[in-house]
Amino acid sequence: MHRDQEFDVVVVGGGPGGSTVSTLVAMQGHRVLLLEKEEFPRYQIGESLLPSTVHGICKLLGVEEELKKAAFMPKRGGTFRWGSSPEPWTFSFSVSSAFSGPTSLAYQVERMKFDQILLDNARAKGVDVREKSPVADVVEEDGQVRGVVYRDAEGVRHEVRSRFVVDASGNKSRIQSRIGGTRHYSDFFKNIALFGYFEGGKRLPAPNSGNILCAAFDSGWFWYIPLTDELTSVGAVLRREALDRVQGDREKALLELIDECPLIAEYLSEARRVTSGPYGEVRVRKDYSYCQDTFWRPGMVLVGDAACFIDPVFSSGVHLATYSGLLAARSVNSVLNGDVEEAKSFEEYEARYRNEYARFHDFLVAFYDMHRDEDSYFWTAKKVINSSAPGLESFVELVGGGASREGGLVDAASYTERRRSEFRQFSELADRPAGEDGTDRDLFDSSLVQSVLEEGAKIQVHAALGAADDEGPMREGGLVPSADGMRWAACGY
Ligand code: FAD
Repeated sequence: MHRDQEFDVVVVGGGPGGSTVSTLVAMQGHRVLLLEKEEFPRYQIGESLLPSTVHGICKLLGVEEELKKAAFMPKRGGTFRWGSSPEPWTFSFSVSSAFSGPTSLAYQVERMKFDQILLDNARAKGVDVREKSPVADVVEEDGQVRGVVYRDAEGVRHEVRSRFVVDASGNKSRIQSRIGGTRHYSDFFKNIALFGYFEGGKRLPAPNSGNILCAAFDSGWFWYIPLTDELTSVGAVLRREALDRVQGDREKALLELIDECPLIAEYLSEARRVTSGPYGEVRVRKDYSYCQDTFWRPGMVLVGDAACFIDPVFSSGVHLATYSGLLAARSVNSVLNGDVEEAKSFEEYEARYRNEYARFHDFLVAFYDMHRDEDSYFWTAKKVINSSAPGLESFVELVGGGASREGGLVDAASYTERRRSEFRQFSELADRPAGEDGTDRDLFDSSLVQSVLEEGAKIQVHAALGAADDEGPMREGGLVPSADGMRWAACGY
């Protein structure tokens, strides 16, 4: 066994979560090793991205130009044949002030290309990236994780030491159990996905031709994601009872399911299934909805799918992976810089990641109730994110990945302006005597109104202090992002 040089951080896995955390730590001058089992480009599912990833995280990583050059399919929003309404309904990211102007566009990406861009960028920003290097286990000493054991491309075993190990090796992680606790599989989202690729599928009418199309049918629902003008990713998400249907000839099962869903059958009526190359296989995924009951221990942290995943319907996976990559980078950087003690730093990580996960989880449970219409879904989103904005806007803020209200993930300028204007309106109302203009004073006792008033006050104080995050700590005694967004800081008010 070779004893390698020491690193500050070893990151396991070069998907979006691993690339994000490794780059943001290396950009602070720390020594980072990233070990990836495969040789890139490698296939991965998860092609529909959110604006928070494209304009928030990718901007922080410095790959915005690379993404533009790659000419991925622009995604303005989503079109759903879902719930009690018989007709498809469409939302656009631009209805939310969190994503105005150019930041209201996300992308549909071929993950082989997208993940390669992020991994190459990690290398360019100083990360020591080693592909074909599967990690077998972590090294532990005195209850603390101190490094990993891996095999290199020649099959030689190495032990490498580091202050932190980040497990970003996805849902099939071999080392995630070393964090302690249990991975809890969801009783509610026990679904199976069966998916393949088609050429020549139809497109929604402009300007929505790049939208994700989701269509519910008796056995579950379909995604229909336009990746290029020619290529479409098509997948059926089925209830667990349908397991038998996917166990024989997968192509036959997929084509039969398409026939059962008139909208998708119509869109694919002139299309051919891709039968060769990385898109030629019909794939199955199951057991993908789970959450680990702890996300960190001394010396080790789980990022992205290694920690949790819910369900593909709102394309939250890459958002959760990259957002948790940012949060973990802040915690690692804070400890390495000696700013914050380890437990406090990683408690902040876990609280924020769980909070974002919970928002999507709680909303998705309600969204799977097909007896409701879209207005009822929008109202649920408003409740889940505790927003003062109208229902549709709240829904888009949530499903666009902007509900954490991190300045870095949304169009911070217009978002803050809207919050200020809401604060002014509420302040004016609060100053009026009871009953004037039919105003109900009891309204001001409600927790929602109180929280908006408090929030407005926070924004004003925070803006005066010039801090980066306009929202203050997420919880009592919690930390806030530092001015450059790369570490944690104590709250200034
Ligand atoms: P991954 O992307 O899985 O990357 C992990 C990396 O670790 C891989 O490259 C792997 O090779 C490597 N690795 C594994 N083991 C080791 C090891 N021992 N040593 C070294 N390296 C290792 N998300 C979306 O955003 N949009 C979607 O439309 C979407 N659709 C989905 C559809 C389905 C059916 C499913 C199941 C998921 C979908 N997702 C979607 C979720 C998305 O696939 C994941 O959330 C996302 O890829 C997680 O990124 P990650 O970096 O955590 O892990």
